[in-house]
Amino acid sequence: MVNERMKELGSRRSVIRELFEYGKLRKQEIGEENVFDFSLGNPSVPAPDAVRERLVELLQESDPVKLHGYTSAQGDLGVRQSIADYLNRTYGADLRADCFYLTAGAAASLTVSLTAILNPGDEVILLAPFFPEYRVFVERTGAKVIPVPCGAPDFQPDLQALEDAITKRTRAVLVNSPNNPTGAVLTAGNAKGLSEILRRGSERIGEPIYLIADEPYRELVYGDTEVPYLPNDYENTVVCYSFSKSISLPGERIGYVMVSPRAKDFSDLYAAVCGAGRALGFVCAPTLFQYLIPSVLGMTADLSVYDTNRRLLLESLTAYGFSVVPPKGAFYLFVKAPDGDACAFCERAKAEELLLVPSEDFGCDGYVRISYCVTTEQVERSLPAFQRLARSYGLG
Ligand code: PLP
Repeated sequence: MVNERMKELGSRRSVIRELFEYGKLRKQEIGEENVFDFSLGNPSVPAPDAVRERLVELLQESDPVKLHGYTSAQGDLGVRQSIADYLNRTYGADLRADCFYLTAGAAASLTVSLTAILNPGDEVILLAPFFPEYRVFVERTGAKVIPVPCGAPDFQPDLQALEDAITKRTRAVLVNSPNNPTGAVLTAGNAKGLSEILRRGSERIGEPIYLIADEPYRELVYGDTEVPYLPNDYENTVVCYSFSKSISLPGERIGYVMVSPRAKDFSDLYAAVCGAGRALGFVCAPTLFQYLIPSVLGMTADLSVYDTNRRLLLESLTAYGFSVVPPKGAFYLFVKAPDGDACAFCERAKAEELLLVPSEDFGCDGYVRISYCVTTEQVERSLPAFQRLARSYGLG
């Protein structure tokens, strides 16, 4: 006898993973270069040189026992202080080392934060479309997902709908900006509006409603787009950050939870974060990569490749007649299914060897997601297939 829910999760892959596995098989059948795999958000640009240089330096010059040993559960004190100093300098924040809990990436930051906050029967508001794993992470705690849709053309939150969704069981609102899958970035005005709603809601229900800001794409923005630093607007904020996307280290599993020092019941919340990390068996974040952090704060991989791909796809797909959401950040393009049926659209794309993810699992119908963290050459070679796909719908 095993836990049925866990068995189900382990037996059924996510739609994204399913497509990725299909792509691997298909590449074996018809050759790698003939499959246009836009399924996974796996960065295609290498980590900055400074990452390799610092890792070599750490491996050659540090005490190996310390470098590969356990750190304190919340992470090395000096590393946490360096993150606090960087964020204080960059965003005029007021953070201290003891606001941080280092983690094995954003997924771990999310499971730790949600476990720290939620009890069975609680509600978490998710702005849809959302990263599909949110549902898994929330429901594991016995809490309920309450989706609030964000709509075309810009996929900004509908603040009135969000306020209407707050009940006395609401414990958190989870926001992801820049967004996977739309590439939308919360505007400064909406960040302020959101904080006012959460403050009013908290007062109304007599409990703090936490804002969980999932920010693995914070630095991946285009043009003059700015990503509001939400803890500056709203006191009860928990940031889930990761170095997976910004500096292309998704396999190394390193990130952090930041609990705002201005949060109501800060000490209880921070203790609950540490307790959740303990209960989930994280022990401590990978030590070698903890020690890398101070030298890479604020760095990004070369974003010019993503920007080139973004422009190329946006311009070409629009010219072919598709309706596309112009992304301001991250590396995803959200495209409307011409007849509203996203699954049928993905199947038709598959016939052209284009692997696109249907939007249903993101909590939103009628779109597909294109992950353009691939080579520009792949994007260029895929364009005729997109054009044929458009023509098959009578577009263009
Ligand atoms: N949150 C979002 C919105 C993501 O897109 C991802 C990964 O794709 C994650 C969290 C998990 O990232 P990490 O690799 O840091 O665990």
